[in-house]
Amino acid sequence: MGNVVESKPVGNNIGPWVPLIVGLLIVAFPLFVYVYKGKELLSISSNSASSSQLYVPTLPTYDNVIVATTVAPTLTVLPTATPTPSPVNNNNFSLDYDYKPTKQAKGTVRIPILTYHHIAKMPKDKASRAYYVTPETFEKQLAYLKAKNYKVITSQQFYNQVKSGKNPKQKMVMLTFDDGNKDSYTNAFPLLKKYGFTGVFYINNKRLKISAKQLKEMSDNGMVIDSHTASHIDLKKENNQSVLNSEITSSKSVLEGITNRKVVSVSYPGCTFDTQVVNTAAKAGYKFGVSCGKSIDHRPGALFGLSRMHIYSDLENFKKRLSGYWVMP
Ligand SMILES: [Zn+2]
Repeated sequence: MGNVVESKPVGNNIGPWVPLIVGLLIVAFPLFVYVYKGKELLSISSNSASSSQLYVPTLPTYDNVIVATTVAPTLTVLPTATPTPSPVNNNNFSLDYDYKPTKQAKGTVRIPILTYHHIAKMPKDKASRAYYVTPETFEKQLAYLKAKNYKVITSQQFYNQVKSGKNPKQKMVMLTFDDGNKDSYTNAFPLLKKYGFTGVFYINNKRLKISAKQLKEMSDNGMVIDSHTASHIDLKKENNQSVLNSEITSSKSVLEGITNRKVVSVSYPGCTFDTQVVNTAAKAGYKFGVSCGKSIDHRPGALFGLSRMHIYSDLENFKKRLSGYWVMP
């Protein structure tokens, strides 16, 4: 009871507590402010925490930057790669010769036909060296044709262009290889393929040095297999029609049997021919016949004795021949 009595005056008589309450308020207010501000600080730090959480997604954007920098080089390569073919002028027939082209006779079509025999290392025997072009020089000649934007054509493309009676718009050249030597397969063929060029290979079907399987492989890879007759006899000296038929007519069908493609042209062995030879070739279905010569111009009405220029193992001489000059290296 006494406790209850004692407690009563405490509750009723506030007077003595006022200073304590005021004192507590004085102490509590700054504390309140401190706590409030602390909360603000906390909310700021939580804001900065959330902003650092927001900053985390910027890491992927940083990753994107990395991706962008890895993408950038491909983007810079593409624009330089795409315009490169566009400056190539396909109407270059009268442009960009290293030697001023010779005068062309009226009524002719200008397409150099070039003759090779061996693409191989120079032999010791001096007499046969004229028939050799080293693979190194041959490749330089091909690279030159590429750099000058020549269209290296098949015998069918040659025929079509000459028959049109007009010079081509783009420089054209036909590369021919006589005798079907092994190095035509081992050296000439891979280099032509490397440059995306075609070659016209004149083969003697009765003395194959390149196997039928290899000839088929060459044909299947864009090379032309045409005829150099059956056995390389002197056609001009041969007057027996049945022999000429066997040499010229049957050679065509035998080679077509190997490649499963049309044989378009014939190359006369030793470059000799006469009217009987020409008539036999025309009757057999050849579209033209090539010989040797000093000219790069051809008449559409005289397709069975076309001039081909012999090529030596020499780049400058090669350039001169493309301009129509018959000069020795
Ligand atoms: Zn020959």
